[in-house]
Amino acid sequence: MDKKNIDWENLGFSYQPTDLRFVANYKNGAWDEGALIADPTVTISECAGVLQYAQTCFEGLKAYTTEDGHIVAFRPDLNAERMENSCKRLEMPVYPKEKFVEAVVETVKANAAYVPPYGSGASLYIRPYMFGSSAVIGVKPADEYQFRIFTTPVGPYFKGGAKPITVKISDFDRAAPHGTGHIKAGLNYAMSLYPIVLAHQEGFDENIYLDAATRTKIEETGGANIIFVTKDQKVITPKSNSILPSITRRSLMYVAKEYLGLETEEREILLEEVKDFAECGLCGTAAVISPVGCIVDHDKEIRFPSGMEKMGPIIQKLYDTLTGIQMGRLPAPEGWVKTIL
Ligand SMILES: *Cc1c(COP(=O)(O)O)cnc(C)c1O
Repeated sequence: MDKKNIDWENLGFSYQPTDLRFVANYKNGAWDEGALIADPTVTISECAGVLQYAQTCFEGLKAYTTEDGHIVAFRPDLNAERMENSCKRLEMPVYPKEKFVEAVVETVKANAAYVPPYGSGASLYIRPYMFGSSAVIGVKPADEYQFRIFTTPVGPYFKGGAKPITVKISDFDRAAPHGTGHIKAGLNYAMSLYPIVLAHQEGFDENIYLDAATRTKIEETGGANIIFVTKDQKVITPKSNSILPSITRRSLMYVAKEYLGLETEEREILLEEVKDFAECGLCGTAAVISPVGCIVDHDKEIRFPSGMEKMGPIIQKLYDTLTGIQMGRLPAPEGWVKTIL
């Protein structure tokens, strides 16, 4: 298959329309068959539920080329399950899991010319999303919805090596204890924009949010879960009902235990404890792991022994092992790598 003429290594992370996108419509209580269409625009009521009351959720995953030349996606079934939970919490109709995975596969196949070659570090980002499309003026769920998937080629997350970043403890809260922090709702991102713009102005790369109830426990950043490595090489991650269950983080915790033989634990983690840890990383689909070198809590600076030059040794092993599994260089657990072409 002929690839598009794209400078893969120098792609950034920005939207570039590809040939086809998937669209399914929910009307009169049922989803239609859905179809791949060429038009990259959406036409909806000026009073659509998504525009008035933010009734929308999304997912994010990647397709890429493995060492042996296959186009694959990483655990799309977990994106389907997570979107199911998001839809239920937002009073939106669920798009069935099997059909979700099938739609991901078909959309990637239709845009295979945009899947970057193995070794480029680039990938085809896949964005499934759903929104209330019919008019809603009194506050209630919309009657009609669209489920869509578009793809866009994105460049390597780390250009010229993964340099550790500096993050701040935010004075804002991301998610209330019984709110929507555990689902991938657009509204969670809308409210994170002000704090992240501010953090960037102050020279920080990211915000770490604390639990809103006590502001003593670590939760996550605006778009990535957090893992820590203790001085005795245990891999730990915060446990909380208001954290978004990252597929990358869940995969890394499995890799830590089953591939690297490390002890792992999901538990409440106090901000107070962080100064005693050896390594820290942010995990999500985009970067897999971004190493954190320094956490700033107002006038206190927590500098990890792994430093500001390179990933800590355990984070590096986790990164190498998970990317090895994704790229087909290491055997994958059953069902992790979905072959598309
Ligand atoms: C999407 C997201 C993540 C990362 O999840 P992955 O499935 O690993 O990509 C983490 N935190 C938040 C708030 C997110 O929205």
